[in-house]
Amino acid sequence: MVYEVILQIFSGGFLGNAVSFRAVEEKLVSVLPRLPVRRVIMGWATDRELYEKTAEFLAKRNIELYLWFPAFSETGALRDLDELIDYQGLRITGSHREEDFLFCCPNNNKNIEKILDIFEREFASIKFNGVFLDKIRYPSFANGNGLGSVFSCFCPNCLAAYEKENLNIDKLKDAVYRPRPAPLGITAYRGNGEYVFEDPALITFLSIKAGIISESLKRICQYFRERNYGIGFDVFAPFITPFVGQDLKALSGLCDFFKPMMYRITQAPAGLPFETEALLKQTNAGTLQRQRFFDLLNLNPEKEPFDLDFAVTELQNMTTLSACPVYAGVEINQSEKIAETDPGYIEETIEAYSKTGIRGFALSWNLLEAPEENIATAVKVIERIGK
Ligand SMILES: [Zn+2]
Repeated sequence: MVYEVILQIFSGGFLGNAVSFRAVEEKLVSVLPRLPVRRVIMGWATDRELYEKTAEFLAKRNIELYLWFPAFSETGALRDLDELIDYQGLRITGSHREEDFLFCCPNNNKNIEKILDIFEREFASIKFNGVFLDKIRYPSFANGNGLGSVFSCFCPNCLAAYEKENLNIDKLKDAVYRPRPAPLGITAYRGNGEYVFEDPALITFLSIKAGIISESLKRICQYFRERNYGIGFDVFAPFITPFVGQDLKALSGLCDFFKPMMYRITQAPAGLPFETEALLKQTNAGTLQRQRFFDLLNLNPEKEPFDLDFAVTELQNMTTLSACPVYAGVEINQSEKIAETDPGYIEETIEAYSKTGIRGFALSWNLLEAPEENIATAVKVIERIGK
């Protein structure tokens, strides 16, 4: 089958300078003739002219342009959003940077209005074919703050939501902090983000959070649907989703496509090795608990880059159970210590992911920082598997 390709370009954060159209054009002129590109995702620096020129350039070639738009983090750089509250009642704050991963509470109508207002003010006048929504989640273990990032939010709105479901916060704290054979008392992993936990309080808590994300996204998607935008979702690999409030089955009914970040080499948020280590570290997992976790997931921690067989199983489950098509997110950009990609990694990953029922690939997360040898490898492999 012919795999469709999505290209992703980081144009800069809300606080930095945008990249130049010339740089984008130059890269696209070199890459587009070599790949079956269906759409380009670009964001989220605020530079109208950059997107207008890119939209025009792509429209001539019959390629869609989607705005890469972060929802529940990053947007706090432009508007005063209500922060998440941790279990001690403290606001989770920090300083805004180019990419700050500072999340606001998603269970908050004012926040949602302000986020949509940013889109309205900065981007609504540009001819995008769709939006690619990122940061549609709570913080992950990789945000640090001990267990505080995942064990949020405890603002009045969220507390009311827990009360409605009869969630006892003391029982939850016990569920979270009592040492168990496996981190957080996990007893099984059934795939597509579905865990079994010893303690029902934890199950209730995580499912309320997932419900909050789904409901908030329904509202956000309604806004974009009314304006005829296509919608893509940036989602985590399934095994991390319950901890960030992403119910893949529910979310797959809201968007036109998923791009799971199946980054096997990335040492930054969403990267599979990075998130796995963060989960184990923040839950204070000792040697036996770590091993138990790996056994339950059937994940081999010795493999480097991150266990390909496990990643393939995750993708297979996701494509089977999602209502929307899935484009595997593979990182092809290169940066020291963060994404030390090379042609061998890209070839092995694209080849294996192609057998999972995916519609195509999202070559992530920044084409402008992808070296030619990586691009050439992606071109070669996508051509080969397409025959
Ligand atoms: Zn809240």
